[in-house]
Amino acid sequence: MTDRRIDTVVVGAGHSGLAMSHTLAARGIDHVILERGEVAHSWRTERWDSLTLLTPNWQSRLPGHAYDGDDPDGFMAVPEVIDFITGYAGTISAPLETATTVTAVSPTGDGYRVKTDQGAWKCRALVLASGACNRPSVPAFSRAVPASVDQFTPMSYRNPDQLAPGGVLVVGASATGLQLAYEIQRSGRQVTLAVGEHVRMPRLYRGRDIQWWMDASGLLDERYDEVDDIVRARNLPSPQLVGTPTRITLDLNALTDIGVRLVGRIAGVNGDRAQLSGSLRNVCNLADLKLGRLLDTFDEWAVDNGIDAEVDPPERPARTRVEDSPPLALGLGSEICSIVWATGYRPDFSWLDLPVMDPRGRFRHDGGVADLPGVYLLGMPFLRRRKSSFIHGAEDDARDLGAHLAGYLDATARVA
Ligand SMILES: Cc1cc2nc3c(=O)[nH]c(=O)nc-3n(C[C@H](O)[C@H](O)[C@H](O)COP(=O)(O)OP(=O)(O)OC[C@H]3O[C@@H](n4cnc5c(N)ncnc54)[C@H](O)[C@@H]3O)c2cc1C
Repeated sequence: MTDRRIDTVVVGAGHSGLAMSHTLAARGIDHVILERGEVAHSWRTERWDSLTLLTPNWQSRLPGHAYDGDDPDGFMAVPEVIDFITGYAGTISAPLETATTVTAVSPTGDGYRVKTDQGAWKCRALVLASGACNRPSVPAFSRAVPASVDQFTPMSYRNPDQLAPGGVLVVGASATGLQLAYEIQRSGRQVTLAVGEHVRMPRLYRGRDIQWWMDASGLLDERYDEVDDIVRARNLPSPQLVGTPTRITLDLNALTDIGVRLVGRIAGVNGDRAQLSGSLRNVCNLADLKLGRLLDTFDEWAVDNGIDAEVDPPERPARTRVEDSPPLALGLGSEICSIVWATGYRPDFSWLDLPVMDPRGRFRHDGGVADLPGVYLLGMPFLRRRKSSFIHGAEDDARDLGAHLAGYLDATARVA
């Protein structure tokens, strides 16, 4: 089969790839989206059953498309997210080739060859919108966990019925870890939550959703070239939030209230013991301190912008409660029969034969403009803005990178 030619190939038909497609179409740039599954494949195949977005419906917007239902303050469940993204693909008539897995990308003289299991494409520009969460990020010492303990990740976990009887250790206290600890404890199992660095947030602050404060105060628009330490900002855990009809705050105190036991982060596994760090109190104090600073910022912003009297008075949540001497080890196979590693995700670029990775395996780019002509990255945490990895973050990033890509195609066409 001869290679097909096109100006631009977009890899991935999640919301990021579709937002870029909208931008490219508006600029008249010929392109195709290659997707290994169906549109919104990651939402169809990689999420647990009870997941709802932690961003409210009013915030779900893509270029030329926004939530228009009758519950703007509600939170979409996974089937609704799939409908939202699939509906968008239809509305913009995205040029899709689904069931097409990109297996390799290599440079050619004037662009790139994109090899797939359905033939190859030659293109001048390439957009990688293949997702930030392709693989669970699990510590290497998980391999030392005794075989009698079942291990799950948020990609293999679906619901509590999968778990064997006995205690469950959830590792990680970001949004995923808290949500899974809450669900599993409420299913009747004893959950222990290993808590490392985390970002504490109330669902509501001064009567408004915390995402409203983040959005209105401009925090979500903060740019990658404005923060002091972008590497750290890109690696921050997701905020401790859950989207429920009653808009509960799901923090460590709420988990303690229903019987979840908090312990320090796992430092290693030795035989049938999980060894725990003694840092629980410190990481909780630090998260409380940072939450206080965040809320101070919102209070100052409310005064500066004349809305202080419109919202409820300032308030501060109770400090995180931690037991005096949390355990420093757990018995694996005895106390703990299942482990859920809610320790984050990472992208998978194993199919890229391009010199774009640094020695630590990180993609080299400047706000999504790769260190290789005509190659762009989309959908990564804090790619160009704090909101980059959220659904509503794709519009501004796709617009910026689409403009850069259009300039690149123009410039190279003139030279040729
Ligand atoms: C558990 C969880 C909860 C989240 N909650 C929220 C939330 O509340 N609000 C919010 O705004 N965001 C949320 N996000 C973040 C974000 O919206 C999702 O990560 C979203 O899926 C990212 O969209 P994307 O288009 O960048 O990547 P993806 O949706 O992952 O899309 C990438 C696409 O690329 C395809 N692909 C990958 N490799 C290849 C290949 N080699 N060949 C062909 N196709 C390929 C995949 O099949 C996939 O369809 C959440 C993420 C997770 C993991």
